[in-house]
Amino acid sequence: MKIREILKERRTVSFEFFPPREADGVPTVVEVVKDLQRFAPDFVSVTYGAGGGTRAFTEEITMRLKSETRLEVMAHLTCVAQTRSEVHGVLERLQAAGIENVIALRGDRPAGDDSGGPGADEFAHATDLITHIQDNFDFGIAGACYPEGHTESESLETDIGYARMKQELGADFLITQLFYDNDYFFDFQERAAAAGITVPVIPGVLPILSTPQIRRFTSLCGATIPAELDEKLERYADDNRAVREIGIEHATRQAEELWAHGVPGIHFYVLNRRYSVSHILSNLDIGGHTAE
Ligand SMILES: Cc1cc2nc3c(=O)[nH]c(=O)nc-3n(C[C@H](O)[C@H](O)[C@H](O)COP(=O)(O)OP(=O)(O)OC[C@H]3O[C@@H](n4cnc5c(N)ncnc54)[C@H](O)[C@@H]3O)c2cc1C
Repeated sequence: MKIREILKERRTVSFEFFPPREADGVPTVVEVVKDLQRFAPDFVSVTYGAGGGTRAFTEEITMRLKSETRLEVMAHLTCVAQTRSEVHGVLERLQAAGIENVIALRGDRPAGDDSGGPGADEFAHATDLITHIQDNFDFGIAGACYPEGHTESESLETDIGYARMKQELGADFLITQLFYDNDYFFDFQERAAAAGITVPVIPGVLPILSTPQIRRFTSLCGATIPAELDEKLERYADDNRAVREIGIEHATRQAEELWAHGVPGIHFYVLNRRYSVSHILSNLDIGGHTAE
């Protein structure tokens, strides 16, 4: 089923996973996803390594989830550092496996890639990939958007203009980059509506697992850690268990407020760990997603 149809029926809870580095990690990821089925996610997704290396595992996990579970699965697909025909080939295989939903992304050039930009045979932006998918396939399409602005964008206005372009070219809905202060999301919602974005915008929530990890993630994607949260993370920087609990508490409050605000869904960046998301969903009371 296309996720756009699900979004017409109800507000969604979804989980995002990533592929392991080695083939022998595939069964563990599949097992974690299957275990989290008890929270009745409306869809799950598996990230795609723009740097290569793990792409085959993304396809394998996506296809296994499709054939071994009743979950609706969305494949991530980045287009950077691949030829158009390679990307086309991935889409053909996904289609043949019965996958109905794709999130179309540009991705980031792998470290050490000094090619200086997209080659003539590459899709330069997610917008080009969306057009290609629309012209050649019948997938439901999602795109990424950035409440605090994408790190390369000239301004918040130009960035939101490209988010709107994704909608115009065929994206059915958008999922946001992680953020830790809901006001960035609420502000983005207002700016998006003013810019003519009418498709559902689903906030992405990443429960913090460790201080160094979240510092690395936020510095890469340009998200702000609010001062009060940052102080706590610093205080417990050497205690991952304590930080995980801080992360659960913060994500629970974020999700509660977002849900109360009427968001069309919440997309949890699960990072392949069941503990935090299980506790967050057990803390929350959001339509049918609290496991027995
Ligand atoms: C929900 C979500 C899922 C993600 N999943 C993955 C994943 O699976 N694998 C992975 O490697 N990365 C993933 N990422 C990270 C993403 O690849 C990076 O943020 C990347 O830097 C931008 O990807 P994009 O699709 O937003 O690119 P684009 O939409 O192409 O945007 C990149 C930059 O170019 C600008 N821009 C956009 N369109 C145009 C245009 N037509 N012309 C000129 N400028 C333009 C934008 O303002 C922005 O500054 C994900 C991010 C999110 C939010």
